[in-house]
Amino acid sequence: LYVLTEKQFLPRHEVTYPMEERGLQFGDGVYEVARIYQGTYFLLEEHIDRLYRSAAAIRLSIPFEKDVLMEKLELLREINNVKKDAILYLQVTRGSFPRNHAFPTENRPNLYAYIREMPRKTEEIERGVRTILTKDVRWEYCYIKSLNLLPNVLAKQEAVERQAFEAIFHRDGIITEGSSSNIFLVKDGNVYTHPATERILNGIVRMKVKQFCSELGIPFVEEAFSINDIAEADEMFLTSTTSSIIPIIQVEEQAVGNGKPGEVTRKLQAAYEKAAGLAVQS
Ligand code: PLP
Repeated sequence: LYVLTEKQFLPRHEVTYPMEERGLQFGDGVYEVARIYQGTYFLLEEHIDRLYRSAAAIRLSIPFEKDVLMEKLELLREINNVKKDAILYLQVTRGSFPRNHAFPTENRPNLYAYIREMPRKTEEIERGVRTILTKDVRWEYCYIKSLNLLPNVLAKQEAVERQAFEAIFHRDGIITEGSSSNIFLVKDGNVYTHPATERILNGIVRMKVKQFCSELGIPFVEEAFSINDIAEADEMFLTSTTSSIIPIIQVEEQAVGNGKPGEVTRKLQAAYEKAAGLAVQS
């Protein structure tokens, strides 16, 4: 397995970092996860554009120009002979320097990117998933895809311990997003989701769903909804790069709608599969 670093392609075991790496010590960096279906990147450019936006927000420079980075990522896929469904993980940190909170005076960011096989979550996509609610205790800059994921880790662990697929964050009863996904509610044919403010990560799949809605004539309403609205929902679903579009059939003890994946969700799933060049499910 080969890994792309800021310097060169290296075999996986040769990629090691000093103790004083700012990603390790401070979470001082940003990352992306992009999808690969049957050996082909899906929406890679959108992810790379967001990577540069996240980096700019924390005043971090990416060690490659966008075009060069895109070419190297294609090469990474080729030299690893990726043919299946997989994900690309890429992170950039402010580098390795003697520990000090303030920025190092030298600009020497660390970058690494690797590809890991990851099948589609076909069972969840088909049947839908159970979720829990948890308090959103994160900072105010959730639009940055930063390496600081402790609140997300704790939320997801709570979900796993309670036999749920995802933890849904709320701020004073207002649903923001999931621990690693965006959250949507369907009511009377309209799709509602939290607006893309600094309080959420504007998901690449979220943006795609917005486009599908416009193409399908489904009103896409970027208005936050609350925990109280869930009892009245017809459908709910979540989106993320690793999950694509997954129906939410339960939130805590509350069944969503009739407790089964809904019609609007199914239409959006079909649009996604078409866009990604996947075989349309029955
Ligand atoms: N929100 C959070 C907090 C995430 O970590 C993620 C991705 O994992 C998402 C939303 C969904 O973003 P994307 O569709 O770009 O994967």
